[in-house]
Amino acid sequence: MILFHKSLGPHFSKFGIDIPIDEKRADKVFEKIKHPFKVEALNLQEFEKLSEADLRLVHDETMVSEILSDQSDELFRSFEKAYEIKKENFDFKKAQGLRDQLLLHGAVSGHCIEIALTKENCFFLGGGMHHAMEGEPRGFCLFNDIAIGIKKFGSHKKILIVDLDAHKGDGSAQIFQHEKNVKTLSLHMKEGWPLDNPDDEAGVGWRIPSDLDIEFRKGEEGSYLERLEEGLGLALSWESFDLVVVVWGADTFEHDNLESAKLINLSREDLKKRDEIVLSKIKKLRSASFMGGGYGSLSHEIFSRTVVRMLKEGLL
Ligand SMILES: [Zn+2]
Repeated sequence: MILFHKSLGPHFSKFGIDIPIDEKRADKVFEKIKHPFKVEALNLQEFEKLSEADLRLVHDETMVSEILSDQSDELFRSFEKAYEIKKENFDFKKAQGLRDQLLLHGAVSGHCIEIALTKENCFFLGGGMHHAMEGEPRGFCLFNDIAIGIKKFGSHKKILIVDLDAHKGDGSAQIFQHEKNVKTLSLHMKEGWPLDNPDDEAGVGWRIPSDLDIEFRKGEEGSYLERLEEGLGLALSWESFDLVVVVWGADTFEHDNLESAKLINLSREDLKKRDEIVLSKIKKLRSASFMGGGYGSLSHEIFSRTVVRMLKEGLL
């Protein structure tokens, strides 16, 4: 199943947040697949925004009350952490609008995990807010939608998160570090954000290891596919997993234009082989897929190819 609705965005610019993301990337993927594969957009009337109780499954009390606050100063604190926005550029009304859109977006992420656990594989053309930690929004991620979905619908299930985004899935690693049933595998840049964050005074947080981190220094792309195959094979041998959650970040693409993702540069051909390896390894398991990062005008090509391949192979 494919989950998509154009109003889920997230439409950051409309709400005064400046991020170099192509806000139409999900729309473009959907346009490409809707006719040949007869997929339909969601009816959002059937969804309710994530509630305080949902957010509290993962995040601490202060973080949740700031996100949900109807006080400008409090909501600003969560936006400052997630989007590094300055006070003079903060528009409370617009921020409330984005917050509410994201809470609905997060509910659809949870639905994707629920469907994948109970019915069939699912790909949400959105989601993947993997940097938000238990007590802190970070890296364009106001809260961790995947972690919330897993806690809400997947308790007692054995779940593997495979994070292919250029940036470490540090929030997911932190949130699930003591969780026996949820394992994390992340392939990412060894240097740069978030691992070299100078604000990391306590030496914790983003450096908390995933169950398996596979890290690449600049110029090491040549070993990406081999290490992916080996690492994913190893991770899948840990347990008999009920679900694999994949963050298909496209910011590893050489033409991605996010400055902080420039330390890893995979070609179209590399990414095609990446998909081949991942899908051949997980095809016998249930999967829930999310977009994660992917910036600039070409990221939709990478996502489209993955989705089309999954549809053609009968994996969605
Ligand atoms: Zn990223």
